[in-house]
Amino acid sequence: MSLTPMLQQYMELKQAYPEALLLFRLGDFYELFFDDAMVASRALEITLTSRDAGSAGRIPMCGVPYHAADQYIARLIDQGYVVAVCEQVEDPKTAKGLVKREVVRVITPGTFLAEDGTRNRFLASVVGRGGVWGAGFIDVGTGEVWYLEHADEQMLRERMRAWQPAEVLVYEGAQLPAWLTAQDAPWRLTRRPDTFAAEQAAVEALCTQYGVANLVPLDLTPHPVAAHALGLAVMYIRETQRAILPHLRTPRNLLRGKHLVLDETAVRNLELLETVRTRQRKGSLYGLLDETETAMGSRLLRRWIERPLCDKSAIEARLDAIAWLVDNALFRMRLKASLHGVYDLDRLLGKVAFGSANPRDLLALAHSVAVLPDIRGVLQAAEGGWLAELAQSLPNLADLTDEITRTLVDDPPVSPREGGIIRPGVDPLLDRLRDGQSQGAEWLLAFERQERERTGIKSLKVGYHKVFGYFIEVSKANLHLVPPEYERKQTLANAERYTVPALKAAEAEILDARERALAREYELFSALREHVLARQRDIQAAAEALACLDVLTALATVAAQRRYVRPVITEERAIRIRAGRHPVVEAMVPGRFVPNDVQLDDEQPLILITGPNMAGKSTYMRQTALIAIMAHMGSFVPAEAAEIGLLDRVFTRIGASDDLSAGQSTFMVEMVELAHILRQATDRSLVLLDEIGRGTSTYDGLSIAEAVMEALLQPGRNPLTLFASHYHELTEVVAELPGAANYSVLVAEDGQDITFLHTVVPRPADKSYGIQVAKLAGIPADVIARAQALLAVREGKAKLAAADGRTRGAGMPDEAALQASEAALQASAARESVTPASAVQASAAQASAER
Ligand code: ADP
Repeated sequence: MSLTPMLQQYMELKQAYPEALLLFRLGDFYELFFDDAMVASRALEITLTSRDAGSAGRIPMCGVPYHAADQYIARLIDQGYVVAVCEQVEDPKTAKGLVKREVVRVITPGTFLAEDGTRNRFLASVVGRGGVWGAGFIDVGTGEVWYLEHADEQMLRERMRAWQPAEVLVYEGAQLPAWLTAQDAPWRLTRRPDTFAAEQAAVEALCTQYGVANLVPLDLTPHPVAAHALGLAVMYIRETQRAILPHLRTPRNLLRGKHLVLDETAVRNLELLETVRTRQRKGSLYGLLDETETAMGSRLLRRWIERPLCDKSAIEARLDAIAWLVDNALFRMRLKASLHGVYDLDRLLGKVAFGSANPRDLLALAHSVAVLPDIRGVLQAAEGGWLAELAQSLPNLADLTDEITRTLVDDPPVSPREGGIIRPGVDPLLDRLRDGQSQGAEWLLAFERQERERTGIKSLKVGYHKVFGYFIEVSKANLHLVPPEYERKQTLANAERYTVPALKAAEAEILDARERALAREYELFSALREHVLARQRDIQAAAEALACLDVLTALATVAAQRRYVRPVITEERAIRIRAGRHPVVEAMVPGRFVPNDVQLDDEQPLILITGPNMAGKSTYMRQTALIAIMAHMGSFVPAEAAEIGLLDRVFTRIGASDDLSAGQSTFMVEMVELAHILRQATDRSLVLLDEIGRGTSTYDGLSIAEAVMEALLQPGRNPLTLFASHYHELTEVVAELPGAANYSVLVAEDGQDITFLHTVVPRPADKSYGIQVAKLAGIPADVIARAQALLAVREGKAKLAAADGRTRGAGMPDEAALQASEAALQASAARESVTPASAVQASAAQASAER
């Protein structure tokens, strides 16, 4: 079977990129052939056609116009495909025979410049060696580069789950954990040939990227595995982009510096970044605090939330800055107004580095850095502190702004290749070429006038057609007046088009001038882009400072609008909050939120909160954690006063975050998380436990809850703990436990009805009010009446049984569910050496051994 020469060329290119969809440039289109055409036509919902392929007959084909290709490519990437872009690399007009074509870049999920800039899009690379995991995270859009190296696979997993890289790079044959390579993992897994396994080559690639001789200047000598991973990513970027991306920043160690550890469970349960149910930013802490003006600020705020500080002086520096901005509303508003005009400098620079920045991008960059003097002016008023330091770190980019705005016209077209982007007077050569063009235009007008007079055809026109060039057009009615030297070019329905040698000569000259002018404009534009790139360090410094300012201003704005206060940060082990509020719930019920106090410290490290469902227990616990986290971020907090001791970690075991997709029962998940907390918590941790033991029978549940409370109060562990339960039986246990306090959420009772007051008081609840809550929820009256009757019987029986000394569980949950969770527990006991249930005992035993 023989193919046409062009398709042979296609086949050769395609062979080099078997995994990619090959976009083959053909004039104004990118075409896809064979299987690629079938896949792409389905993915993009475009028509599948066919093309004559020589003796092979017709083959499937589909195509997208090149000027709209970006959006089609984005859709393919979002669906997890990799796209290889093949261009014509010589001018079809001058090419002899088949136009030469080459793949100029390969676009993959991890190397794609996405339009949405509020989230990072990471390419991750992972190397495991000698029991140590190394990983690199690169966002080619913003130029951020991070790494981590740790023996604990869990560290890697947490970060991967938190950042959800679009693509994960590994080398063929690497030993990898199952979660990383799982079919349903949220990233595309890319395996590179085992040449990538060679550490030497990877390290060399990394050093070349940064123009250094070895790992020392990058501070990476102590982290060879991470360096290997980073090198892998750099090699891959070079392979796919056909270029070194100069805007990548110096790699930063994710594990450097101390941070308040928030694992993924805490981030999810506390709805720090998105809501549990709808997975939306709106309704999360991030959604509430994100009053930033720029995408850079928004991304940085996200990082501040994920990684709060634990260094007192660093926290105070942020608090000082925010305090000043809260007090100086006018300056704050001026800053906000200035920041409003700032575009995403990181990503603009990324586009410049990729060579895809257009004239409007450069103008956006110029307008963005033009606000720097204003901002510096505002910050000078701050007199010292971090704001003054930020002002100092703002680079002077006035010359660059100047150059860009002097070179480019005010409102240039998007494409840098179609001309009309460079101002007159910028470049003498361009001006001359343009003069040539306009002289040509004048000549054409004169020629038209002259021909009208000469032939007597009043309606004679000189025009231009993209394919046929310049022509003289004469309508059908006047054909008898056409002079003999007119050469026919084209026939239309009611006119004929002609040319003459003088017009042909003029055409060549005009087109030549036009083309040379276009080429010159592009040349000047490219030079301008290079100048921008040469200032990348300054632009990145500006981007960093502006992002910080944006976050500080946003936090100050929220603090001012919502009447937050500055927390007092202490080294003590204590959380004391007066009239604290839940920031997000408060925003949803304006004016109706009931503030509450909390005190957790050496004297009282554990609080049991009882009260019926819906009373507000969980809100109370979460608000305490949120206030603590916000304080560690350096933010003001929703309270009248707050004293927050530095914490090392926040743990949560809250509600029904059922990991059902992972095939575990709710109770099992609960116990696994609990085991983790009991093993990891220190006396500097904050632990939130909601309804521990709910997933099993009442007495099992109560017993586990009691044992857990005891274990948490053991020295050596003893975190600050909030423990919520609707089992008011637990209140008696707490009354006997030193260090534990009974709190409850008040409800007002009026006969059969209750009203939630949401007020937390330092005393136990006296009842569980389950039936009243059921009534509130709209359970029909007859069912409520029956439940009350059954309760009366059960209470009677329980009293009897208690008197008997043979107490049996009343109100047992579904037996089948119970058996299922126990079976799950046993199944996991077989898999793990320490089962969650025995872990409780084991840790309790260990703790008592340490005493
Ligand atoms: P529980 O954990 O006791 O079942 P929640 O904390 O989920 O109860 O609270 C139930 C509802 O009550 C919440 O959705 C919230 O709207 C409201 N609520 C809770 N605490 C307060 C409060 N302090 N002020 C006003 N409304 C509150």
